[in-house]
Amino acid sequence: MSTLLYTHAACLAHDPGPHHPERPDRLRAIQGALETEAFQLLERREAPRAEKAQIARVHDAAYVDWLFAQIPEEGFAGLDADTIVSPGSGEAALRAAGAVCAAVDAVIGGEAQNAFCAVRPPGHHAEPGHAMGFCLFNNVAIGAAQARAVHGLKRVAVVDFDVHHGNGTQAAFTADPDFFYASTHQWPLYPGTGQPFERGVANNILNVPLAPFSGSTEFRAAVERQVVPALDAFAPELLIISAGFDAHLRDPLASLNLVEADYAWVTRQLAAVAERHAKGRIVSSLEGGYDLRALANSVAAHVDVLMAG
Ligand SMILES: [Zn+2]
Repeated sequence: MSTLLYTHAACLAHDPGPHHPERPDRLRAIQGALETEAFQLLERREAPRAEKAQIARVHDAAYVDWLFAQIPEEGFAGLDADTIVSPGSGEAALRAAGAVCAAVDAVIGGEAQNAFCAVRPPGHHAEPGHAMGFCLFNNVAIGAAQARAVHGLKRVAVVDFDVHHGNGTQAAFTADPDFFYASTHQWPLYPGTGQPFERGVANNILNVPLAPFSGSTEFRAAVERQVVPALDAFAPELLIISAGFDAHLRDPLASLNLVEADYAWVTRQLAAVAERHAKGRIVSSLEGGYDLRALANSVAAHVDVLMAG
């Protein structure tokens, strides 16, 4: 079965302003990497807009209304020091969340084995009532909720290998024993959450902080000894990946030392978990990654493994 690629031109029109690391060129770099011959078998689909009802499974209605009221007609508006919106941001956020919902529908519907969503803004810092850390809607949490509400899946797991802790996904999942969230991340680092004692209502949260300057050895040990066994115990029916690539050696925002081969490796581990429990079903969605060359090459390594699955 094939791998789907969801993206949309609107995701390029979310502009957080000059000198912001989460810039449209990130997506252009990824699209360039995925246009090469090695990826000609990717099945490309345009991301639909998420519907309000899909977003409302995770986010407070008052927050959604407030967010759209902040979108400026021109120029920029700051939601916090890091999270800046422009006239195109509302449409981009709808397409980003819609991509993950559509990918969930297609993968559970048997149209493809797995899917990668090349979208921005990212989502894993967005809490149910709160934008932060470049994130507006929590795309992966909205996708997990779609899998349960529309397709009747009982257990959905999100694995997050972005260098930052996904506080928003943790907040959305922590009281819900049928959703599992596992994160490897640098600590200490923004946003400051993600310590091992944050376990969720039913041990359904697994945080594995990594010290600054950790590299392949520490990352792979964390995945092998903690993340994979916890996923095997939870036995998800769908695996969603918060695919951030800012733990790369070249990334300017953090101090972990992963390389492309680590992203291929972790994708193989997660594909094996999905094979054991979830009929191989994976939906992966872009989070961070701020060095354009490292980002493009790491996404290529990740998607290459998805296509092999
Ligand atoms: Zn990040």
